[in-house]
Amino acid sequence: MARLIGPKCRICRRLGTKLFLKGTRCETAHCAMEKRNKPPGQHGDKRVRLTDYGLHLREVQRAKKMYGVMQRQFTLYYKTALRKGGNTGDNLVQLLEQRLDNVLYRLSMANSRDHARQMVLHGHFHVNGKKVRIPSYRVQAGDILETNPRDKSKKIVQDAHENRKDLEVPSWLKVEDEPIKGTVVSIPQAEELATPLETQLIVEYMSR
Ligand code: SF4
Repeated sequence: MARLIGPKCRICRRLGTKLFLKGTRCETAHCAMEKRNKPPGQHGDKRVRLTDYGLHLREVQRAKKMYGVMQRQFTLYYKTALRKGGNTGDNLVQLLEQRLDNVLYRLSMANSRDHARQMVLHGHFHVNGKKVRIPSYRVQAGDILETNPRDKSKKIVQDAHENRKDLEVPSWLKVEDEPIKGTVVSIPQAEELATPLETQLIVEYMSR
């Protein structure tokens, strides 16, 4: 996963959708997209009509920024999704959703995917009793995600969970509070993939 450096809200405004890059702020009225839903910069008000290619490219950029994936890894996800058969767009989002950093974010055990990535790299999480330091680790149905028993890890995860524990957790995941523990109940199905992405555009772009 690529680290996003620089102003994150500008990315949302440029791509015209909420990408939830800033943690708890994204869920509040302070979100820049709620206040100024227009491209950043002096000429942001000007209407620019995107070409067909531009529309497709924008959708790919949205997906990459939202999940924090670079082009090379995104292409690998696309090729895997294609090989799986069935709906490639759904397969692609399913693979992205199965990333460990995304799952921790969805479980409200981290403020954002970026935050989850950092916590994974710092060794704050165990998957099925083993420390995992790979943010792109692909979780499977039945996996148990727990905090590293170190006091420091428990405190960091507890603080993050406190901020987001009132938010709804997707039906394919389950979170328990004391002690904080996440379970992957099942692999997300098409109807459970709650993303604002138009996957058809992504597939058309990637298959060029
Ligand atoms: Fe995007 Fe709003 Fe979050 Fe900023 S606060 S990163 S504009 S969703």
